[in-house]
Amino acid sequence: MTKQFVIVGAGPAGMRAAEQLVAAGQRPIVIDEAQRFGGQIYRQPPAEFKRARADLYGFEAHRASAVLDRFEALLPQIDYRPNTLVWQVEPGVLQTLNAGRSSAVPFDALILAAGATDRVLPFPGWTLPGVVTLGAAQVALKYQACLIGPRVVFAGTGPLLYLVAWQYASHGGQVAAVLDTAPFAAKLRALPKMLARSSVAAKGAYFLARLRLAGVPVHGGVTLLRAEGERRVSGLRWRRGRTEHLVPCDAIGVGHGLRSETQLADLAGCAFAFDPLDQAWLPTRDAAGRSSVRGVYLAGDGAAVLGADAAELSGARAALAALQDTVQPTSMDEAARLERESLVHVAFRHGMETAFALPQRWAAEAPDDLIVCRCEEITAGELRACVRDTGTREINRLKALTRIGMGRCQGRMCAPAAARLLAEAAGCALPDVGRLRGQAPVKPLPIHLLRDAVAADVVPPEERDD
Ligand SMILES: Cc1cc2nc3c(=O)[nH]c(=O)nc-3n(C[C@H](O)[C@H](O)[C@H](O)COP(=O)(O)OP(=O)(O)OC[C@H]3O[C@@H](n4cnc5c(N)ncnc54)[C@H](O)[C@@H]3O)c2cc1C
Repeated sequence: MTKQFVIVGAGPAGMRAAEQLVAAGQRPIVIDEAQRFGGQIYRQPPAEFKRARADLYGFEAHRASAVLDRFEALLPQIDYRPNTLVWQVEPGVLQTLNAGRSSAVPFDALILAAGATDRVLPFPGWTLPGVVTLGAAQVALKYQACLIGPRVVFAGTGPLLYLVAWQYASHGGQVAAVLDTAPFAAKLRALPKMLARSSVAAKGAYFLARLRLAGVPVHGGVTLLRAEGERRVSGLRWRRGRTEHLVPCDAIGVGHGLRSETQLADLAGCAFAFDPLDQAWLPTRDAAGRSSVRGVYLAGDGAAVLGADAAELSGARAALAALQDTVQPTSMDEAARLERESLVHVAFRHGMETAFALPQRWAAEAPDDLIVCRCEEITAGELRACVRDTGTREINRLKALTRIGMGRCQGRMCAPAAARLLAEAAGCALPDVGRLRGQAPVKPLPIHLLRDAVAADVVPPEERDD
């Protein structure tokens, strides 16, 4: 029996899910807005660039080759749709955008493997040209072989901080400093849990050691004070203890870990729960990846940020669950193995949260004139005033009253920071402010599509009954 399986995301989770479905005789549709498959970690440059995988992926080159080559071999057996954005999920059907045209894609089973994006806690000056996220800095290097500037500061916290800094240093970039808002002592405290994946922990130690050997100043436990500059960033002012420093630079890569892309799960109607590890609301799922909505499955970093290897496992597991529920019984031994192997990644993630803890006092210390929502230019002071004047304690109410999260990014960039500020201003815990509800379209659409959609909905007066 064939059923229509649709996978959103051709990263490690989506690629492994497709492989599992093909092995069971299905022909899944795999949709990804990117030009080429691979997702974030195995992002491929345009085909004409001809760059060696060792240069692109470093330690991960071997794994990247295995994953990418296996998916390449699957292409004749799947319906792969690159450059295609899923912008709406309705019961049994996705709305997609490709080359300016919208199409409806029906499904019997949907595997959401939409990955993650940078989480940023803003600091004064972060909207200056030249300040980008850590992920964007890496995309520039991996996809376009470009540096974001000749002399770059990397700031914030999380494993990407050291990885991207080292990637820049080893590709000829001048890394002016690495400024980690989490203290080094936290890394030592995290060590026992991080030994759950000792080879990954060793890679982190390697990046740090190589940066130091290359003479890059690396500081932990810092507070980011201000990106300086008039028309473009020219330096980063930071503090440790009571001493302030200014490091000149032409660009800043900043990030504080990752946040799961959950908007499609939200549009699908999945139930959410607050996850203390991610400090975010995540769609709930069982160990197999089944969401609360029948026929919708969750895999990879979009379900919980556990890294690429865990994404592969959860992608394969979700595909088995979808097969089991839809067409045929599947191997329970294989399912149990995938679930068992995933556990080690959860243990490791606990270590990461200790090592790269978010700055606890960020919301309390954010100045009133700090822009939190860069789409709508809404400041921390405006959010605080709204809480004070209206007594609101709920994030969707804050959105309605201030327009935070209503701009181009639909809250994907500002929501984690806005929720923290709201909780601080209202004097409540982070889970109590709730989560921003997803709205279609998840990303901006060409206006003619909306015009066409409205026209299709409008019944001409002569055809009306009344
Ligand atoms: C910018 C960035 C860089 C990273 N670099 C590294 C790294 O170098 N090393 C490392 O270990 N980890 C890295 N990570 C973490 C890493 O993303 C993963 O752990 C891993 O790639 C997760 O795999 P995944 O399949 O869950 O998601 P991803 O690899 O993120 O793949 C998700 C895919 O879904 C697609 N997608 C999302 N939304 C839609 C939509 N609405 N419509 C259509 N397609 C959609 C995306 O285009 C993407 O290709 C990075 C994360 C980010 C955000």
